[in-house]
Amino acid sequence: QAKEQGRNGYQIYDESMNAKALERIILESQLHKALKDEEFEVYYQPQVSCRTGEVVGIEALVRWNSKELGVVEPGRFLPLAEEIGLVIQIDQWVMREACRQHKLWIDQGLPPVTIAVNISGQQFLKNELLDTVTAVLERSGLEPGLLELELTEGVLMAHTERTVKTLEALKGMGVRLAIDDFGTGFSSLSYLKRFPLDVLKIDRTFINDITSDPDDAAITLATIEMAHTLKLQVIAEGVETQAQLEFLTRNRCDMYQGYLFSKPMRPEEYPRLFLSHHADHAAPDHATPDPV
Ligand code: C2E
Ligand code: MG
Ligand code: MG
Ligand code: MG
Repeated sequence: QAKEQGRNGYQIYDESMNAKALERIILESQLHKALKDEEFEVYYQPQVSCRTGEVVGIEALVRWNSKELGVVEPGRFLPLAEEIGLVIQIDQWVMREACRQHKLWIDQGLPPVTIAVNISGQQFLKNELLDTVTAVLERSGLEPGLLELELTEGVLMAHTERTVKTLEALKGMGVRLAIDDFGTGFSSLSYLKRFPLDVLKIDRTFINDITSDPDDAAITLATIEMAHTLKLQVIAEGVETQAQLEFLTRNRCDMYQGYLFSKPMRPEEYPRLFLSHHADHAAPDHATPDPV
């Protein structure tokens, strides 16, 4: 840090500079060397079947473990990484690392569940996305059907013609496609029909109050119904309470993700959580009601 401060010294001590601009300067200079120094890590959060309580997928979530700044959450550095053009390299690294790690777990005897990775708008628009996915699958030896790409509405809406082509090519490779943060963008619902998607993830802002806010409950129910009609599986994001899980299960939501089951965790914790959970499946913490 001392070195960085030295280089930007006159800016850092300019009192007119507000804290936000200062943070930006520090983050930007640190981000560039983070990739080189391999300061990124992948955390994993289980995706769980509402009906059986089994882990059926894992989402890979990037963390930046900076020597100078400590652990930085993606919300703090990804927007900047997009701006300065580093997000594509970060996403590629995450995809490679997550597929490598998951293949290792499978080889060690853990069940071959889905591994989901987030794709930024920039990475999606780059023609190399198909090449990247091909290379990652080849190098890791992971089955294409076990890789799921999470895209947001904003990404899908940007360039529809090209988007359909890209999605169809990915589909042709056998990769699974999910729409992330559903309900937060402003997509025309007709696109859901045009895009070859497999999974719809309901954003956690709707899940938060489903047991107390009738509007959120209604939106969630309508979304589940619509998704099933379109032959999409539904994942509820940000499930924190047993009451939320019961509501979702009762209303035929397929899967959930959230602190109730587990926070995103370091790779070394995953096999242990997985095995302990599946050893005593009926543990009250994770018990799900019978399907109705
Ligand atoms: P997301 O893809 O919607 O990921 C879910 C976020 O919700 C994660 O935040 C996760 O830690 C958090 N979460 C999960 N369960 C709960 C819960 O029960 N309660 C609450 N309050 N939060 C919960 P995280 O890891 O900070 O990631 C934030 C966003 O950053 C992600 O949202 C995704 O859009 C983006 N992101 C993360 N990793 C990557 C990546 O490798 N590449 C790209 N392009 N984006 C990423
Ligand atoms: Mg996601
Ligand atoms: Mg999401
Ligand atoms: Mg979100």
